[in-house]
Amino acid sequence: MGDVRELRKAFASLNDTAWEQLGTYFQMLVDWNEKVNLTAITDETEVYVKHFFDSLLIASSSESESVLASSHRICDIGTGAGFPGLVLAIAAPGKHFVLVDALAKRLKFLQSVVDALALKNVDLVHARAEDFSRQKQYRESFDLVVSRAVAKLNVLCELTLPLVKVGGWFVSYKGPSVEDESAEATHAIGILGGREAFMQSCTLPLDMGTRTLVGIRKDRSTPKEYPRKAGTPQKAPL
Ligand code: SAM
Repeated sequence: MGDVRELRKAFASLNDTAWEQLGTYFQMLVDWNEKVNLTAITDETEVYVKHFFDSLLIASSSESESVLASSHRICDIGTGAGFPGLVLAIAAPGKHFVLVDALAKRLKFLQSVVDALALKNVDLVHARAEDFSRQKQYRESFDLVVSRAVAKLNVLCELTLPLVKVGGWFVSYKGPSVEDESAEATHAIGILGGREAFMQSCTLPLDMGTRTLVGIRKDRSTPKEYPRKAGTPQKAPL
């Protein structure tokens, strides 16, 4: 694969500090990955495109860009090794991010990246989304919730929409084709107080594939019984 410096133009929205921070993040990701299972992708160019660029897709197209621009408190559910949440936090130091994951070892990795980069705009929470979104301080408190590669859309909406303020957004990072998943989620989205507002197709550089962002707007408060207890959303999707 080529030199990542050739990709700098594709990351034109990032300033030099953020670009350098991505370099440190990449190095820590591959170093830690030898001991902790963080990613199947370790080639430098692929990490930059399929993890870093992919995480920033929300800022690259018109509808989702305006959602991001108007959001100040942002949560990433099932952030794993920090995608998309930590990359967005590096790109947008003026916004506040809460990154949630159920696996402690991934949080440990994220904490050392946050420390190494001296990021002041990130909180890390070790929890299952089902329990996290029942906590008063977090419920319906975010302008925007994002999530990538965690569950099918109908399940994911039960984990994320309870966290979104009325008038806020959930943006789901999905693969190239999401039509069936989206149709299957219509019922759940309605029950949880949301409405699918856009579906945006995006292309990765270097012919590394296409992705879809699904934007769900929260119109009404989520009924208190959701999310159901941990494990139920996955076993019996709405
Ligand atoms: N979002 C990252 C990405 O795109 O690379 C990680 C994806 S990984 C396949 C899924 C992550 O979601 C795992 O780190 C897992 O621990 C987390 N996860 C799955 N279900 C969860 C839940 N109910 N609450 C919190 N985290 C969850």
